Amino acid sequence: MKPLGPGRVEQIALLAAHCDDIAIGAGGTLLTLARANPGLTVHALVLTGSGSEREVEEKAALAAFLPGADVHLTVTDIPDGRSPGYWAEAKDTLAAFRRTCEPDIVFAPQRHDAHQDHRQLASLAPSEFRDHSILGYEILKWESDLPTPTFYHPLSATVAQEKVDLLHASYPSQVDKDWFDADAFLGLSRVRGVQCKSRYAEAFVVEKTVIDFVGV
Ligand SMILES: [Zn+2]
Repeated sequence: MKPLGPGRVEQIALLAAHCDDIAIGAGGTLLTLARANPGLTVHALVLTGSGSEREVEEKAALAAFLPGADVHLTVTDIPDGRSPGYWAEAKDTLAAFRRTCEPDIVFAPQRHDAHQDHRQLASLAPSEFRDHSILGYEILKWESDLPTPTFYHPLSATVAQEKVDLLHASYPSQVDKDWFDADAFLGLSRVRGVQCKSRYAEAFVVEKTVIDFVGV
């Protein structure tokens, strides 16, 4: 497919409920973005995991998935699985995070994710990032909640495999989960690749975006 290109990307924001969500949903895209845009600035917010081994994993993972980028990671201590009960804290945290950055693209969970923590953050993101294109990533899980995406980022076989290898190397606390394996990650990437005439791809649900035929 002939792609629509965003031009040079200088800054992105990454939003996640949990450590590992960003890399699972958009790891191949991050690898590609960082390499294609030297000096990329990345502002990342993860709502759960502060002070735990998962925060340590996430910091190292983002460094690996964003080679050469200037990564600013904030991890807060909202309880995993309980985010809807901490709505005000999540809203205030996201609002404060918003004031620290002016991204070209925002990556966030997608609105119809079955996990309540993901879904809450997806619903909060557009009210804070009102002037930004938001791409909702997908996360394969036990619930049958995969979206029907219409926005694809093709990945080479090399990058798709690199993503899988980095996920395993970066998140030792998660490798025992029954959904955390190469077949699951590559399988979904292959499905999304078929849908956009590529070997592999990551797919996104566009919250909202605009197109500019003049000023790019
Ligand atoms: Zn998650």
